[in-house]
Amino acid sequence: MLTFYPGPSKIYPQVGQFLQDAVCDGVLSLNHRSAEFMNIMRRTLELFHERLNVPTDYTIYFTSSATECWEIVAQSLALKQRFHPYNGSFGRKWFDYTANIVNATGGVWFDPETNLTDIENLAGWLQNTDLVGITQNETSNGTRVSMASLQKIRAVAPHNCLLVLDATSSMAGTALDWSLGDVWLASVQKCFGLPPGLGIMVCSPRALARAVAIGDRTRYNSLLFMHQNAEKFQTHYTPNTLGIYLLMRVLEERKNIDEIGPKITARMNDFTDFVHKNTRFETLIKNAAVRSKTVIALESEAETVRRVKTAALTNGIILGNGYGQWAKTTIRIANFPAIDDAEFDQLKMFLAHYQ
Ligand SMILES: *Cc1c(COP(=O)(O)O)cnc(C)c1O
Repeated sequence: MLTFYPGPSKIYPQVGQFLQDAVCDGVLSLNHRSAEFMNIMRRTLELFHERLNVPTDYTIYFTSSATECWEIVAQSLALKQRFHPYNGSFGRKWFDYTANIVNATGGVWFDPETNLTDIENLAGWLQNTDLVGITQNETSNGTRVSMASLQKIRAVAPHNCLLVLDATSSMAGTALDWSLGDVWLASVQKCFGLPPGLGIMVCSPRALARAVAIGDRTRYNSLLFMHQNAEKFQTHYTPNTLGIYLLMRVLEERKNIDEIGPKITARMNDFTDFVHKNTRFETLIKNAAVRSKTVIALESEAETVRRVKTAALTNGIILGNGYGQWAKTTIRIANFPAIDDAEFDQLKMFLAHYQ
């Protein structure tokens, strides 16, 4: 079976061997306060910085999911006024959870075809905001907020405003300009090519300073507790040791994101062209400037979508279901690094022949 599901998604084929190694080397029973575990943590963090070009003064934490990171951000970093613009299901959910925790949360829907920097009264929204939460890559509809847009938002936002970016389906797929964000959150079941169950938070010194200023220590996953443990190469709870070990092994074999990112972008551009020319689908998002490079949503009539998904399955291909309001009229396709070019060729062949 080929899978193009945008999460959980295709894992790297080497993961099978890494799992066996984890069992044979006793990794799964390691005490998480032991030197052996701390070595795995240290090496994983080192590789993460190296392969993804994370600045040395940014710190990395492991959680159980990206969703948990949303909650940590709301509980550990919120001051007075937060702002959540969203154009799809993940952004909306993030806004809803946050609004339940922090009263003063403004959410505004924007059209998925519109560049976030062009929404009405953006400067006004940002004016009194001390934290803005942006879904950098919206997996539900295949849009993204480009690095150039983030730069503009950074320039308009007040000096003390933290930029928190949900990059769950782009981190490790395309290069991110880390300096534009104060918190970048993700999980490993998308572009990292790993099984689900491990979340990642990458924090700037500014984010950490905010956590210190707020001083919240009331929760097991308060960022301050997480940081205290991370400084010792430990975690704040008994961690997903297997997930961390697998991340280490995958990162060891991976090339730098500056090599991977351009290939992913080129493959998406090529695939999008192909869809326009050779299939009965259209891209859900017509504005190329806001289309994601790692996830694409393709639109057609509900009946076509249903038939194509069924036919794909009988041809050994799993296509991603549409999400939220687009559940019935779209399919979604992941363009993640663990998927081979040859698999994309097979997908193209199927889409071209199945009319
Ligand atoms: C998949 C996804 C999530 C949820 O990730 P979990 O690890 O399942 O919590 C959050 N945000 C975006 C944009 C996603 O694509």
